[in-house]
Amino acid sequence: MADPVRTTCPYCGVGCGVLVTAQGDGNFTIKGDPDHPANYGRLCSKGSALGETLSDDGRLLNPVMDGIDVSWDTALDRVASAFTSVIKEHGPDAVAFYVSGQLMTEAYYVANKLMKGFIGSANIDTNSRLCMASSVAGHKRAFGSDTVPGNYEDLEQADMVVLVGSNLAWCHPVLYQRLAQAKKSHGTRIVVIDPRRTASCEIADQHLAIQPGTDVRLFNGLLSHMAEFGSTNDAYVVHHTEGLQDALKAAQSDAPDLNTVAETCGLEPADVLEFFKTFSQTEKVVTVYSQGVNQSSQGTDKVNAIINCHLLTGRIGKLGCGPFSITGQPNAMGGREVGGLANTLAAHMEFDEASVDRVQRFWNAPLAAQKPGLKAVDMFEAMHNGKIKALWVMATNPAVSLPDANRVREALDICPFVAVSDCVSKNDTIAYPDVILPSTTWGDRDGTVTNSERRISRQRPFRTAPGAAREDWHIICDVAARMDHKDAFSFSGPAAIFKEHAKLSAFENNGSRDFDIGGLSTLDDQAYDELNPVLWPNRVAGEKGQERLFANGGYFTANEQARFLAVRYQAPLQKISIDYPLSLNTGRVRDQWHTMTRTGLSPRLAYHRAEPFVEIHPHDASSYGLQERELAVVTSRWGEAVLRVSLNEGQQRGSVFAPIHWSDTNSANAVVGRLVSPVTDVISGQPESKFTPVAVAPFNATWHALVVTRETFKQPIGAYWTTINGKGCTIASIAGTENIEDWQVWAMDHAIQPTTDWLSFSDKASGQHRFAALKNGQLDAAIFISSSSDLPSLDWIQGQFALDVLDDQGRAGLLAGRPAGETFDPGPMVCSCFSVGVNDLRRAISDGQALSIEAIGEVLQAGTNCGSCRPEIQAVLEQELDIEKVV
Ligand code: SF4
Repeated sequence: MADPVRTTCPYCGVGCGVLVTAQGDGNFTIKGDPDHPANYGRLCSKGSALGETLSDDGRLLNPVMDGIDVSWDTALDRVASAFTSVIKEHGPDAVAFYVSGQLMTEAYYVANKLMKGFIGSANIDTNSRLCMASSVAGHKRAFGSDTVPGNYEDLEQADMVVLVGSNLAWCHPVLYQRLAQAKKSHGTRIVVIDPRRTASCEIADQHLAIQPGTDVRLFNGLLSHMAEFGSTNDAYVVHHTEGLQDALKAAQSDAPDLNTVAETCGLEPADVLEFFKTFSQTEKVVTVYSQGVNQSSQGTDKVNAIINCHLLTGRIGKLGCGPFSITGQPNAMGGREVGGLANTLAAHMEFDEASVDRVQRFWNAPLAAQKPGLKAVDMFEAMHNGKIKALWVMATNPAVSLPDANRVREALDICPFVAVSDCVSKNDTIAYPDVILPSTTWGDRDGTVTNSERRISRQRPFRTAPGAAREDWHIICDVAARMDHKDAFSFSGPAAIFKEHAKLSAFENNGSRDFDIGGLSTLDDQAYDELNPVLWPNRVAGEKGQERLFANGGYFTANEQARFLAVRYQAPLQKISIDYPLSLNTGRVRDQWHTMTRTGLSPRLAYHRAEPFVEIHPHDASSYGLQERELAVVTSRWGEAVLRVSLNEGQQRGSVFAPIHWSDTNSANAVVGRLVSPVTDVISGQPESKFTPVAVAPFNATWHALVVTRETFKQPIGAYWTTINGKGCTIASIAGTENIEDWQVWAMDHAIQPTTDWLSFSDKASGQHRFAALKNGQLDAAIFISSSSDLPSLDWIQGQFALDVLDDQGRAGLLAGRPAGETFDPGPMVCSCFSVGVNDLRRAISDGQALSIEAIGEVLQAGTNCGSCRPEIQAVLEQELDIEKVV
């Protein structure tokens, strides 16, 4: 067996180290890297399943122009000439790049250099705008720089960790596991502030289910409380900060007393007081915040309201202390470093005259951009208005992920020239471009990423890129060369780009800017290749990087003092109304990533949440006539989606939750971005994706079908459909309202090819129809139709597909639509690693075999590998044992 390749997980901002070993048969084993400081060997369910996502099926293998495969030269010439002619005719601000936190830092760097230095516009923005732009803006306002002051060890060393708008258990699972372990070893107090009761609440001592968007008032109340009761670090405030009096005055008028805070936030005063007291009295506190804070029309103020509390107590930059923004994407931080956001120039420099001059001289650039460019939502609006006439989308899927996704699709349609570089041949955005460029992806690409704690790690290739796929940095440099900028983009490889990036960070820096990796600017190719994970700032070669910043001040403002910000609560900009009486909260599920182009390839990840859903409190569901497992139409001013109803008492009344992962590529009408309001925070430009007024109503399907086939699912049918990859088959869930005269004809037309070994059952009166096609005794395709949504379990039908030959009992089961005899249905998947369903857990608990997480691990193995399912196992335990909490 070959030596493992050390690389980094391509999903969330935790940035776990991964060891990949080639098996010699084309397969790879995946393990957590025990030496990587982000995860010390752990991986979550998504990371553990990376080996199942390495298929070349669905990869984009050739450049495509106007729908036809072409040579690289032809495609690159077209992109370069389209951009050049638009710039010539309409000026540099008529073109734009929309890039991604999935790109390697090196690709990000050359994209930014091309746009801001050589095209002369700052119209480059990134999908990280949707993820953490408010944190960037809040950091800059308070610290004078976009700096995360602490690192992951602080979560383990803290005595209290507050999770604000962060479902760490699902969105950053390995960090959650580190926190859960810390709680076990020294009893960390954990507070979750989130309108929903999420999986992260399973280890919480207190859950404050605040009204959506009221965080500023809660933290203003905390600031006032600490000032009143003397929980302040006066020396720190005096020596290292400014603006306290204004901030305090604003906080006191905004949150004058406990009752006002409690009423606005929808909490009991006693619960608010408990939070204020424990926060005030605990010296080592980390406040972790994520999209629940950032994705708001007041996201920047929320970030500053949190930071204010840490400045007042001097709890920043010390072991176990600090405000801590966690990024959603694998390289959101790398993008921030190079200047991938339209309002940052490069290397954490802004658009002030001195910085523009410095960067222009460093790049020897003819046309450095002088002012910020268009942020994501504004960029697509400018395209819709005809101002942007050429767009290059890199490694992202804006037709799904941006708010008001219908208008984004119109903008892509209107834009005279669109290029997309991506690794997949099909996604919703790829329906629009004139030119599609095949790029590398995890496993075949080479570069660096930076995680949420400022740690730079290598992503190393371990397999050959398929077809003509090319590295993103290479594609961008090829286009730049064709735009007459060959000399500035003649890099020999990612190591050369990284070195230039490092040199720019140190150029005329002398400690004036936080981002300085000058210590890495002398790496030769071999040292770059062997680079171990390293923190920044890293100013001197050989240093291991700075663990924490700001314990002794040293902020990157003109007077080196941090700024308190005077902030006041402001309600979400869109209001609920009679027409749209509920608020929509959007987010992620445990086992999927972004628009599923990679995680969707893994059957075991698909089973955790197999269909797009809307989560709603049972009382609200009853008010709107919705029932568990039925379908609902969710509408907003901007669009509509049809989603499976999931009742959840942890969902706050008056609001619903829907995940962001489904697209038109794998479902009929489940793009949640179509519903989401395009309202943004005026400072950060980040969309308010956590609050859109919506209405819900039953989708009255008259029939429901489950189709399972070894072939690729033929074509979309029914008003509702969604597909997932099963083990060796495709599974589709479908529903419709039209009258079908002959179900057998319909099945043959749309779903399965008849064979000589054909099973069929039809009962028109009850609306039950079942058909199955077998080849050589093995199940080839099956379809189950019912007038209700009660269809066979995925697990059972998968089991039938795995059999070489179906016996008489199996055939009888197919006709009955359920297992023949005494077969146990494991129910919805909880543990993806060991395929343990919720009914497996319930049986083990009720049999008395397993009454704790540890015992469940021993009996069923569930939760013993990646541990991502442990919060859900905990929840099932609590339900079954009818106890308040088992920690
Ligand atoms: Fe990947 Fe999971 Fe680690 Fe995130 S927590 S980097 S998804 S293994």
